[in-house]
Amino acid sequence: MFQAIDQKAGVMASIKLIKGDITKESVDAIVNAANASLMGGGGVDGAIHRAGGPAILEECKAIRRECGECPTGQAVITTAGNMPARKVIHTVGPIWGQQSPEKSDELLANCYRNSLSLAVRYGLKSVAFPNISTGVYGFPKERAAVVAVGAVQAFLAVQAEIEEVRFLCFDEENYQLYEKLLG
Ligand code: ADP
Repeated sequence: MFQAIDQKAGVMASIKLIKGDITKESVDAIVNAANASLMGGGGVDGAIHRAGGPAILEECKAIRRECGECPTGQAVITTAGNMPARKVIHTVGPIWGQQSPEKSDELLANCYRNSLSLAVRYGLKSVAFPNISTGVYGFPKERAAVVAVGAVQAFLAVQAEIEEVRFLCFDEENYQLYEKLLG
């Protein structure tokens, strides 16, 4: 376990690194690496919809009707259905190569920041993230890990609401990269 330290408030939030399946996590919110349609897909998105059941897609459809597609870097929230988590925060990562590397970094950081902001708005205190954009969206894993850890640490350093963030690494390569950054 790694801890974000705030000079004034003392230890305020912990960051945990876990290798495994995010659908099994007992946290207030798990984050989904969704696509802009919010209609489900492969990878972690597919796993979350399968484990959570149809209630998630129903809420995604309602959000789509009201707000349209979810822009890259933004986040929306639904039930977690049958999973142990209470909520799913769906965020849309950047597709590597669709914009400059710097713009991609910014959009990926927005995914982490906006997901945590949404968690705060809903009073959720523990949040688990997958390695957003590092699957079919092709973001280089090491670069994505640096962005993810930097964005989360910066967010936690200036807030007191979130108590725990978990990075859920599904593959060994990502796990090793995060271990190096957080250790
Ligand atoms: P993206 O389209 O954002 O790249 P993917 O789902 O293809 O999303 O991949 C994102 C990351 O999620 C990848 O590192 C992949 O290994 C990981 N992943 C896939 N299934 C799961 C799961 N059940 N729990 C946690 N992470 C997962």
